[in-house]
Amino acid sequence: MAKNSMLDVIIVGAGFAGLFMLHRMKQNGFAARIIEAGDGVGGTWYWNRYPGARCDVESTEYSYQFSDELQQEWDWSERYATQPELLNYVNHVADRFQLRPHIQLNTRVTQAVFDDENEIWSVSLDSDEKLSARFCVMATGCLSSANIPDIDGLADFSGEVYHTGNWPHHRVDFSGKKVGIIGTGSSAIQSIPVIAEDAGHLYVFQRTPSYAVPAHNKPLDDAYRAAVKKEYPARREAAQQTRSGMLFQVNPEDAMTVSEADRRAEYDRRWKDGGLAFLGAYNDLLVSRDANDTAAEYIREKIHEIVSDPSVAKALSPDTVVGCKRLCVDTGYYETYNRSNVSLVDVKASPIERITEQGLRTQAEEYTLDTLIFATGFDAMTGALLKIDIRGRGGRSIAEKWEEGPKTYLGLAMAGFPNLFIVTGPGSPSVLANMMPSIEQHVNWITDCLTDMRAKGRAVIEADQVFEEDWVSHVNATAGKTLFPTCNSWYLGANIPGKPRVFMPYLGYPAYVKKCNNVAAADYEGFSFA
Ligand code: FAD
Ligand code: NAP
Repeated sequence: MAKNSMLDVIIVGAGFAGLFMLHRMKQNGFAARIIEAGDGVGGTWYWNRYPGARCDVESTEYSYQFSDELQQEWDWSERYATQPELLNYVNHVADRFQLRPHIQLNTRVTQAVFDDENEIWSVSLDSDEKLSARFCVMATGCLSSANIPDIDGLADFSGEVYHTGNWPHHRVDFSGKKVGIIGTGSSAIQSIPVIAEDAGHLYVFQRTPSYAVPAHNKPLDDAYRAAVKKEYPARREAAQQTRSGMLFQVNPEDAMTVSEADRRAEYDRRWKDGGLAFLGAYNDLLVSRDANDTAAEYIREKIHEIVSDPSVAKALSPDTVVGCKRLCVDTGYYETYNRSNVSLVDVKASPIERITEQGLRTQAEEYTLDTLIFATGFDAMTGALLKIDIRGRGGRSIAEKWEEGPKTYLGLAMAGFPNLFIVTGPGSPSVLANMMPSIEQHVNWITDCLTDMRAKGRAVIEADQVFEEDWVSHVNATAGKTLFPTCNSWYLGANIPGKPRVFMPYLGYPAYVKKCNNVAAADYEGFSFA
């Protein structure tokens, strides 16, 4: 590691975003360093080592496209790669592009302060070291700040406690044990079927049921891989034109304009194919409640077909809007409830009262547990950023600026915080699209901006307040035209008590990419330079 503490760019986070940012900085001759809290690279895929963890965007799409050599040399083994395979891939990228000498692991950024006079960022680390840089890029992740709900008695529990987003590196042994899992979002839905195979008994504490569609994961063979490799450029280009950043087709029809039989056939086809493509069955699924109800009813019927006990099937059946929370993609989730060693506990009907020394007590019953798993999600999109004491012009903190919810221009930058960028920040499509192209687009945009500034002798860039306000209004107005704000999702911050209820990601891929390109082409419209 180079010892100089004055850098061009400090990048916080060594996930997919931070690593690609570092690569682009190196390529363009900027002195850059990544600071990463974990003791390895990979971000999401470093931390989320829970049983069953894998991507829900197909591996051949959930991967970098910036290097054709990388695309050609990497062989994905399954339709949806497992966490270990994704972690191998990230490590391969770090080695292949010689990134490691510029990554400082085991180090957390605690504070970043903009020095108005000298126009540099002063960054404090938990190692007591201080670094300075002209630019800061926050690649801190949207789903990287684990949420452990405040339930009385947690400290009293004598068994093992885990959070899916901070899973230990050793194998956790569930054999013969009484295991409790709180939560039924994507992480729980992936891990429950795997844990159930080992556990003596698994209690699933469900507050709100989720909709899940089958993954139909499968191994990829050489012929398929070769075909994809040949078509990579065209596939990537085609995915850029879709609203999900993924290749699946969105049916241009509206659900209520076709017959019930046709609708069923379309849902059957998508259920059989598996994956997030289910949401593309009709164009209006996330704008029309009537349309959405048809998809919801279809999934509820499937749950009743799969789960043998009708009362359990009923408890597993959501009555919310499909896709309003992230649609879960499962392997054998509903089937797991047919096992005799799995019990669903409805903690909406009978809320959790407290955690005890022996286990967990709901209003109705006490459960003795050896192991308690929190699959309770994340303080999404803003959590990791707000954990850092970021101070812009005049010492104003990001916590003050975002008191009523996050405010950014394009999800990339903030008025009052010059020379600071966020990768896939709130106000950008981010988690609503395939994250890999979203990350690459942001990193490329930031890189172009920095090289352009260097060429033009510009030292400081800052988002204009008025453009930021307009953008925030536009993001809200866009979400308001859809069904997204109708449920208590983490997109809205509704999973964290006291968090302002604001729809954080921008529903606008791929038009958003065009908007960013137009802003750059208009000499960074909406930004000022000093
Ligand atoms: P991250 O991978 O979250 O990396 C951020 C890094 O920043 C972390 O390593 C963290 O330790 C570090 N960091 C944060 N704060 C600090 C600090 N103060 N100091 C130092 N380091 C810090 N998206 C998809 O598109 N498709 C999927 O299939 C998919 N599956 C997912 C599965 C799981 C279990 C989860 C949790 C998320 C999934 N996502 C998926 C979203 C996923 O987060 C992104 O796809 C992507 O991995 C994010 O990369 P990133 O580099 O932006 O952030
Ligand atoms: P999540 O979707 O936020 O789910 C958290 C779960 O915990 C919810 O069921 C929630 O119930 C429950 N919960 C939270 N606090 C609780 C409390 N106090 N008492 C009882 N239950 C409580 O989190 P996640 O499952 O970790 O997923 C987060 C995101 O990561 C996903 O949406 C997805 O984007 C990504 N992810 C993707 C995959 C993949 O398939 N590739 C896998 C995992 C994660 P309520 O709904 O009632 O709040």
